[in-house]
Amino acid sequence: MEIKILEKDVNHIRFLIKGVETPIVNALRRIMIAEVPTMAIEDVVIIENSSPMKDETLAHRLGLIPLKTDLDSYILPAICSCQSDLGCNKCSVTFTLDAETTDSPRTVYSKELKSDDLEIVPYSGDIPLLKLASGQKVRLEAYAKLGRGTTHAKWQPVSACTYRHSPTVRIDIEKCDLCEKCIKSCTKQILKKENKKIVLVNSDICDLCEECIKSCPTEGIQINKQVYIFKIESVGSLTPERIVIEAVKILNTKLDTIISQVSSFKKEKTV
Ligand SMILES: [Zn+2]
Repeated sequence: MEIKILEKDVNHIRFLIKGVETPIVNALRRIMIAEVPTMAIEDVVIIENSSPMKDETLAHRLGLIPLKTDLDSYILPAICSCQSDLGCNKCSVTFTLDAETTDSPRTVYSKELKSDDLEIVPYSGDIPLLKLASGQKVRLEAYAKLGRGTTHAKWQPVSACTYRHSPTVRIDIEKCDLCEKCIKSCTKQILKKENKKIVLVNSDICDLCEECIKSCPTEGIQINKQVYIFKIESVGSLTPERIVIEAVKILNTKLDTIISQVSSFKKEKTV
């Protein structure tokens, strides 16, 4: 297997994976979307809310704020020994919001949420939460916990996580008799004749229909399908690299579980 990073910045990564089967690549994509944990607000205690926004709507909106996540300091509530509704300092972070206006109407933003852990804060402080008119007030406590996208999309670490094939088309010049049947059969028109040779124009748009292989009378075309380009966009909770690393760890754990279960099954059979 070969991995090459093509592009990387704070929230995006684009890399090439070569030499693995599609089910493995797809398993990684699904784990990144649904199983890599992040922190999100789960419980909200509204102490006072005289704004026009209903408590439920405000709580839902708070839940959708991407929070910077520290996977090394917190654990999932399901495995925490406290087993309490609002959690403990190992599985929960408390936020408070105390906002009011006495003169002109104003918008309350995510930066006004005060966290008891300075590492776990909204990824952006500029997310509008609600509007307050003169004399209105909102006071609340919110509890953020680790969770997985499979439970609720607010825990998804990625806003985009896709891969596409980037096949390598190889034309064997020894076998090619320049009949041009492959050029005519290609619906994406990625092949052309140049200097008495069949050349590739743009393999990125190849959709793997394999019409060129079928049309070639001399079997002079080969396609390596096991090349993929992954594109990941983080919502800001975790770095894109950390999302990939965590997904690989989860996949490994799943494979280890399968191996140990199959081995114990084999032992039972032998006994
Ligand atoms: Zn706990």
